[in-house]
Order: sequence, then C-alpha cells, then structure tokens
Amino acid sequence: MSDRTGENTGPQPHEHIMDLAPYVPGRAKVDGVANPVKLSSNESVFGPSPKALDAYARAGENLIRYPDAASTDLRAAIGEIHGLDPDRIICGAGSDDLLTLLIHAYAGPGLEVIHSRYGFMVYPIQSKAVGATAVAVPNKDWAADLDGILAAVTPNTRLVFVDNPNNPTGAYLPWDEVERLHAGLPAHVLLVLDAAYAECVTADDYRAGESLVEKADNVIMTRTFSKMYGLAGLRVGWGYGPADVIDILNRIRMPFNVCLPGQPAAIAAVRDQAHLEAGRAFNAEWRDWLTASLTALGLDVVPSQTNFVLVGFPKDKPYTAEEANAYLTRHGYLLRWLPAQGLGDHLRLSIGTPDQNRAVVDLIASFMSVERSGVEGLAESTA
Ligand SMILES: *Cc1c(COP(=O)(O)O)cnc(C)c1O
Repeated sequence: MSDRTGENTGPQPHEHIMDLAPYVPGRAKVDGVANPVKLSSNESVFGPSPKALDAYARAGENLIRYPDAASTDLRAAIGEIHGLDPDRIICGAGSDDLLTLLIHAYAGPGLEVIHSRYGFMVYPIQSKAVGATAVAVPNKDWAADLDGILAAVTPNTRLVFVDNPNNPTGAYLPWDEVERLHAGLPAHVLLVLDAAYAECVTADDYRAGESLVEKADNVIMTRTFSKMYGLAGLRVGWGYGPADVIDILNRIRMPFNVCLPGQPAAIAAVRDQAHLEAGRAFNAEWRDWLTASLTALGLDVVPSQTNFVLVGFPKDKPYTAEEANAYLTRHGYLLRWLPAQGLGDHLRLSIGTPDQNRAVVDLIASFMSVERSGVEGLAESTA
C-alpha cells in the first residue's frame, strides 16, 4: 500500500526478508504433458513399508484428535531401533522443520551460518530469514571442504551445516573427515550433520553422526522419513543432539509439529528395517546402473551415495544441461536444473522405477546422438 508520496505505508516485514529468494521445489507439472515423470525431488519410488501405509490408514479414523505433542511413541521407536536415548531425540514436520528451528534458535543479525556452496538451499534461505549471514564455502570433490569450512569460521559463527551425503551433488564425507572437521571447530559453533540420505548410503566408511553426538556438546544429527523411507508427503523428520540443544528446540517448536497419522506411520516404517534394506538395495542397484549408463554416454556423473545422481553435460551448445533439460521436459521427464546454485552445467536425476530409469537414459542418448549426428528435427519426432 502506498500513500501519495509513493511511500509504502502498509505492513513492513523485516528488511532482510526482502532480499531472500524463496526455495524452489522440483517441478511436478509441465504444460502440454499429461502425466510427467517427476524425477526432480529425490522421492523414493521404491515406496514406503506397507505396514506404514496400514498405520497411516488406521490413524485416519482419529483425525478429530490432536497428535501427541511430544511424539513420545515415535521417539521411543526411533530410540529402540537406533540404540539412542529418546529424551535426546526431537521429531519435526520433516527435517526442514528442525533445520529451521536450529537457525532460529542459534543465528540472527550479525551472526554467521556456514554451508557448502553446492548444498541444501534451506540453510541459506532460513539464515537470511532471521537476518544472519549465510557463508557459502566452495565444495571440494563435490562434498564439503573441511579446510575451507574451518578457515571460514569466525567468532560470529554459530552454525555449520554439512549435508552428508550432500544434496545436490550426491557426494559424501568419510567418517574420519567428519571427525577432523569437528575437532577443528571451536566449542561455540554447533555442527549440524544433516543425514537426510543416510539410509541410502552403502559406503563402508560412512557414519551418520550418532557416535559424535554421544561424545560432543556441539553436534546434532538430523534424519528424515522423506527419502529412503518413502514418506515425503507425511513430513516427518527427527534429530538427535545434546540434551540442552534439544531442550532449546523444544521451547520454540510448534506444539503439534508432527501430524497425527505421521507418528504411527513413521513408527511402523522405522520398525520395518527389512523393507528399508530392500529399498536400499534397489536404490544402490539402479544408482550403479544409471551411473554406468550415463558415463557410457560420455557424461560426467558424480559418484553418489544418495537416491539421485548429478549429471554433468558438455558446456557447449547444443549439448548443454539447459538444452538437455528442455528436451527431457518436452518428453515428459522432469529433472532438476540448478543454475542459480552455480550448477548450470548439471542436471540432478532422482532414481526412478526400472522403466523410468531406462527411458531417461534412452532419451538422453537420443538427445546426445541426434544432436551430434546433426539430424535436425528427429528429436521432436520421437515424442
Ligand atoms: C530432502 C532433504 C532434507 C529435508 O527433507 P524433509 O522432507 O524436510 O525431512 C534435508 N536435507 C537435505 C540435504 C535434503 O535433501
């Protein structure tokens, strides 16, 4: 609302909110394509445990009730399966909820939050939302750069976020490197190990973070049911941290942050480790297949420990990631192109069903070879 002098006289948000660019989710729709294949948000096509779906359906009969505000049974189940103290577990509406709470609790104007340049966008967005400075450290070999992070720490640093494995690159840090990073951080900096893809990892030298949380006062690990557990739509995540950090987050969270059907569904999911194991094997098999197939086409595929692969395209037209993205979109396949994050030469591809994986490789092959042999128009006619 403006007065006659052109001055805005309406409600005014905090100034720092005006220059933040909101999170852009992976596309789910495209004009002119009836049922596009969405491989842009790292959802797990293997799907959730049937027991989780049963529990969800049963909970639906009780929707007049508020959920348990403390997620007591869910924390107990997670604690039992992972061998952790439920009192030091906090649940959230997705792990995004907990990442955001951490920033609201520990950062603010004049304070700094460190994250990797190619890392999860929620960290800089929420840091800017509270008026803190988001410090982006360039990645090393696609994962977090420990020495770069340590060099960026100042007396004003409050949080260091490490998504391990990393989104959107898929790379991971071996455990000894995470320990080295922690050893180099001053006590006033809280290290957040965002292990959203922990359940996808098959590398022997990876650990999500529980053991470091056990022995340090300044480490918290976050996990989610959205990725390998296949329950993204329910929004359930959890964190494990020092008792005083968990206490702080409990003070500021929404009282009923985990929805009523989400709690029993997540309990059933975490108790069905056989299903999770089958999903991990499916994911790893197709991750290997996609990596090998796309590498054979001459593309640079970043070795992944997640449920997606980051694919590098040639820098020169007409084989660029931007054109590949347009081509795949026209054919109904939605991947993630992230030029705003400095990844304009790459597309991120979530692992799909076997048919979808084969189809996307075929499409990329025809995109590359059609263009390379200079046959104009064939690309369109295969649609
Ligand atoms: C998907 C993702 C999350 C959060 O997912 P939720 O659905 O909010 O639990 C957190 N961190 C990373 C790195 C992710 O990719």
